[in-house]
Amino acid sequence: MKSLINKINKILISKFGVPNRNAAEMDPVDVLIATILSQNTTDKNSYKAYKNLKANFKNWNEVASAKQKTIEQNIRIGGLAKQKAKSIKIILNELLKQKGKVTLDYLKKLPNDEVVSELVKFNGVGVKTASCVLLFSLNRDVCPVDTHVHRTANRIGLVKTKSPEKTFELLNKNLPAGAAHSFHTNLIKLGRDICKSGRPLCTICPLFKICTYAEKNMHSISKVTKNDFLLLDNV
Ligand code: SF4
Repeated sequence: MKSLINKINKILISKFGVPNRNAAEMDPVDVLIATILSQNTTDKNSYKAYKNLKANFKNWNEVASAKQKTIEQNIRIGGLAKQKAKSIKIILNELLKQKGKVTLDYLKKLPNDEVVSELVKFNGVGVKTASCVLLFSLNRDVCPVDTHVHRTANRIGLVKTKSPEKTFELLNKNLPAGAAHSFHTNLIKLGRDICKSGRPLCTICPLFKICTYAEKNMHSISKVTKNDFLLLDNV
């Protein structure tokens, strides 16, 4: 599977480019909260919700002591505000209680599996969120698996799994060194723009030749809309 991942990674890089990576290491608490806010919403709305929190509170300590209703109002645009506000408040207060301040810096010394075990103890944090913290703030070579990565990896034929957790386990066991960030980011792009959930645009897909799903789901070129091509021109 490793050589196939390598091949797919190269094809996607030649199509979409090497994804930007923030030179500065992102704070793990920032990534954790941003990832919780990104659940079940668009990037645009979760980013606005995150920005509201950053703009309206001095720091995470202040969010921890804010009323849940106030947090909810700030993140409403990202949906599931009540649930997310509750998780965020519990996590921040738990960190305050355990560490004396809101910090996840202690994770930097731990191996990947221990980081995941530590994070999934928190209400509202699953393996996907924990692996985003690993990849985006601790700079570890781990590929988080969201709905797009799970769907595309199965369609392409990299895995045959029923759950994102199993996909995560198999992909990460076979991930070539240094591939995680581009592979994760570009598979999401593929899933959003081409290998869409209801209507995969196989005829314009860069993985058409190696994808095992292509023949079963051939969509004639006539079904590819002008917008699909415009969208591809802009990637
Ligand atoms: S060929 Fe079709 S099913 Fe396969 S990855 Fe591309 S869009 Fe998805």
